[in-house]
Amino acid sequence: MSSSRCSYRDGVLQVEKASLPVLAQHFGTPLYVYSRRAITEAWQGFARPLAGTPHLACYAVKANSTLAILQLLAQLGAGFDIVSVGELQRVLRAGGDPRRIVFSGVGKRTDELLRALDAGIHCFNVESETELLRLNELTLARGTRAAVALRINPDVESGTHPHVATGHGAAKFGIDPARAEAVALNMGKFPGICLTGLACHVGSQLVQAAPWRAAAKRLAQLADRLAAQGITLAHLDFGGGFPVRYHDESLPDTGALLKEFRTLAEARGLGMLIEPGRAIVAGAGVLLTRVEYVKPTPHGRFVIVDAGMTELIRPALYDAWHEIRAVISRTEAKAEWCDVVGPVCESADFFARDRRLAVQAGDLLAVMDAGAYGFSMSSNYNSRPRAAEVLVDGEHVTLIRRRETLDDLMALEELLPE
Ligand SMILES: *Cc1c(COP(=O)(O)O)cnc(C)c1O
Repeated sequence: MSSSRCSYRDGVLQVEKASLPVLAQHFGTPLYVYSRRAITEAWQGFARPLAGTPHLACYAVKANSTLAILQLLAQLGAGFDIVSVGELQRVLRAGGDPRRIVFSGVGKRTDELLRALDAGIHCFNVESETELLRLNELTLARGTRAAVALRINPDVESGTHPHVATGHGAAKFGIDPARAEAVALNMGKFPGICLTGLACHVGSQLVQAAPWRAAAKRLAQLADRLAAQGITLAHLDFGGGFPVRYHDESLPDTGALLKEFRTLAEARGLGMLIEPGRAIVAGAGVLLTRVEYVKPTPHGRFVIVDAGMTELIRPALYDAWHEIRAVISRTEAKAEWCDVVGPVCESADFFARDRRLAVQAGDLLAVMDAGAYGFSMSSNYNSRPRAAEVLVDGEHVTLIRRRETLDDLMALEELLPE
């Protein structure tokens, strides 16, 4: 977490002014703990550099889609980037403004497009010509029009993990720029569509800025070619992917990047859109877990905790690094090399390998920077009820999602008739 919101006080780890052992006792573990302050500050870090230019900052809902988090962001004035009707419903339930929603994703179903049209969203980020055709038919049948940005595949290698790279030529995302230009020049074929923008999203956790800059430039150049041919747009959407520091990564300066994007848009008299997800919530959350066993083996020492890949799959999925802190620092005990693993029956179920920690069974650990792609990717695998989530505001703690029960696990199922 942005350590400013998570720190030791008298040797005990706190999120804002809430002591983690107290939260563990009250709500149980595993438990997601978020700092309201950290989310607010992260949001303002994006809003501030964009002040004074026409823009829409759309929080990427998939990073953390818990209602209270969306509600907080809606109150801060956020727009939202959604990828499903489920996310649309969440944003609306949380009080988000539909006119500040953009709809991304390669596989939007007809029912999803219709729901988004009903809601009156700001813009569809269309990823293929067939999607454009489908949306056009739907709007014509209703006698309306839909605002569309064409998502460009800028064909850049973003240097991020292959599972979260989305802007290389072979990725399933977006339309190549030449095709997009041809489509934009033929909008007469799509009377139900109003082309308002161009969009890109290069990937997630973009620790290298150069490919993203190249993509943004390609977007702007395409806008120029279209303008030269009489097609004026309203905005450029530079996507998300703003990175966070999980370990010792050196990161590009987000403020400087935003300024560059802003300059590209302003030079063309266009508004700008961004879609940050991870950078808003990652550092605002910790996953609180209890050590069940410490298991020495001939091959090493395993610290087995009560959270696993079901709560936080990033290490298993992306080999992601998360800092792990002892909630109560044991200055008396000797730190030893260990792997921190979960109880799930998969060898990929780990949080950390080869860390030096001083821990015993019963201790609490905090998996840091777990606010993004943590709970939202959690599952019930191994029939594990999902964790609870709390939001801390100063010393105030609100349960924003209760722990699932065993009954919840089976609530949708039926036994065969006798
Ligand atoms: C996932 C995604 C984002 C957010 O990415 P972050 O890395 O969380 O900022 C933004 N836009 C699109 C289209 C996405 O798919």
